[in-house]
Amino acid sequence: MSAHFLLAQKMCWAGWREGSCEFGALANGFAAEMRVGYKGAQSLRAWGNFFGGMVMTVFDFLYPPRCPVCNHVRLPWEEVCCPACRKTLKAVGEDTCYFCGRQVAEQEEYCSRCQKKRPVYERGFSVFLYEGTLRESLMGFKFRGREWNGRFYAEEILRCHKKELAAFGAEAVVPVPVHRRKMRKRGYNQAEIIARYIAKELRLPCRSRLLVRKRYTTPQKELGETERLQNLLDAFAVSDAPREKKRMTPKSVILVDDILTTGSTLEVCGRILKRAGVERIAAVTVCTGSGY
Ligand SMILES: [Zn+2]
Ligand SMILES: [Zn+2]
Repeated sequence: MSAHFLLAQKMCWAGWREGSCEFGALANGFAAEMRVGYKGAQSLRAWGNFFGGMVMTVFDFLYPPRCPVCNHVRLPWEEVCCPACRKTLKAVGEDTCYFCGRQVAEQEEYCSRCQKKRPVYERGFSVFLYEGTLRESLMGFKFRGREWNGRFYAEEILRCHKKELAAFGAEAVVPVPVHRRKMRKRGYNQAEIIARYIAKELRLPCRSRLLVRKRYTTPQKELGETERLQNLLDAFAVSDAPREKKRMTPKSVILVDDILTTGSTLEVCGRILKRAGVERIAAVTVCTGSGY
C-alpha cells in the first residue's frame, strides 16, 4: 500500500511542488487553500460533510502531507512528524522571556533585549529554536512550497501555548502580511497558513487582510536597528480596503509570524495595530533566532 501510495503521489505532483514556476505557485496556493480552508475550500466543505470529506481524502491522496523535517510522505494514520525527526528539533524550553518568548537563562524573567526595551506587544510565545533541522524545515516552508509544514507548526504552537493563548482573550488572529509579489511567487503567505490553523482551533476570526505590506523590502541586515524600524514602518499599514474598513477593529489580537529574530517586524506590525485602535497584542512565532 505504502509503495503504491508513494508512487501515485509522485507521479501526480512531482514536478510541481518544489518549482518556483507560476504553475508550482498555483498548485501550492491551491493546496494551502484546501488544507487551511480559505474561501474556495469553505464553499466546497459547505456542500456537505460526506462529500467534503471524500474530496479531502482524494486530495490528501494526491497531495499528501509530508514530514516537516525529512519531507517523506506520512500516511494518514501516522504522526505528522516522524518520531525520529521530532527528536532533532530543539524547543525553546521552560525558561522563556515573558515579553517575547525567547529562551533565557535559568531563573531570568526577561531576555536582554526586553530588559533594554519592552516590545509593543504584551506577551510573546514561541516553540522552537531557529537552528539545525528546524531551520531547514522553515526554509522549505517559505521557499520551496512545503505549505503542509504550517499545520505542524500551528499544532506545536497550540500544544505548548493553547491555554495561555485562550486565556489572553483575543478577538482575532492576524498574520504578518507578505507583499503581493511574494504571494504571487509562492502561492501563499506562510504566516497566514499558521494563523488560520490557530484561529480555527481557538474559534476566532482570522483577519488576514487587516494588515497589508505596501512596499517590497529587501533584507536589511546591513541597517542599524532604528533605521530598520523606520524602513519597516513605511512598508506596513492597516488596510484601507472598504471591506476591511467596514469591520470593527479588534481590541486584542494574536499576531502571528514564522520567526522572531531581531523582532523588528513584529514590533512594527504591533505599533501599526495599536495606532489603529488595538489595545492588547500577543505575538506568536514558530521559532526564535539565537544570538540576536
Ligand atoms: Zn521525518
Ligand atoms: Zn524578551
